[in-house]
Amino acid sequence: MTTSKPVNASTLKRTLGTTPRQSAKSRLRGIEAATESRHLIDGLGALDDLLKKPGLRSNQRFLHQTRHAMLSRLADLTGTDVASLSTPELSGAQWVTRFPGSNSTDTLADAFRSGVEAFVGAMRMGGVSVTISATLRPVERAYLMHWSWIIARLGGNPKDVPQMDSVDILWDHGDAAASMQAAEDMVQRYGIVAEPALTSRHTQGLAIDMTISWAGNLAIAKRSGAATTITSKPRTGMNIDLIAVGATYGVIKAKFGNDPPHWSNDGH
Ligand SMILES: [Zn+2]
Repeated sequence: MTTSKPVNASTLKRTLGTTPRQSAKSRLRGIEAATESRHLIDGLGALDDLLKKPGLRSNQRFLHQTRHAMLSRLADLTGTDVASLSTPELSGAQWVTRFPGSNSTDTLADAFRSGVEAFVGAMRMGGVSVTISATLRPVERAYLMHWSWIIARLGGNPKDVPQMDSVDILWDHGDAAASMQAAEDMVQRYGIVAEPALTSRHTQGLAIDMTISWAGNLAIAKRSGAATTITSKPRTGMNIDLIAVGATYGVIKAKFGNDPPHWSNDGH
């Protein structure tokens, strides 16, 4: 699976060949720039090979940022526009598996994580079934989800979408229907049903989606250690007594009504 098309090395080498040379000093600078440029081109080739490797996950952002930084440096050295050196990849469903979201509490922000882990631990200790479906959502994923929705469902112009350095995507297919269809393919593959926010408690590592259920009465400790028994219904994450217990751990049930699995640091 490719995350970006390779840099066109022969085009770059031709560009380098046109560097004007005058004084000895500028000639030396030219040689240095050419050497550095050749190293950058080699490095970019290696980086593109790495980005094609299947199963690459956690380092994608770093590699894309490195790629962008190398392209920017190359643009400086060659006096070329960075956009002309990079070949972004067209939008489409293949983007959906990239920049995956996490369902581990390890990825949560420290301040929120300790409370979540203690709360989930207390629930499990009481015999509650807790299934975590989402924690941290990378900003790149939020960006891809947000703009695919805007183009596919709200008639957004793909030319107006701002670039994100670590996502080398081309939203504009040069044809309005094709651009909209590619965005729609992404919306469906993501399973989006409402406009995704560019930043949210999930992109900040301050939210968790979890499905919660238990049978009978639930004996559970508050964060202070005080024991409480929940006899009320429903026996799910929507239970008002469980929500009160969660709050003692700094894990606040969603304040908006249409997102049953969602908890965060402040209810947003
Ligand atoms: Zn959520």
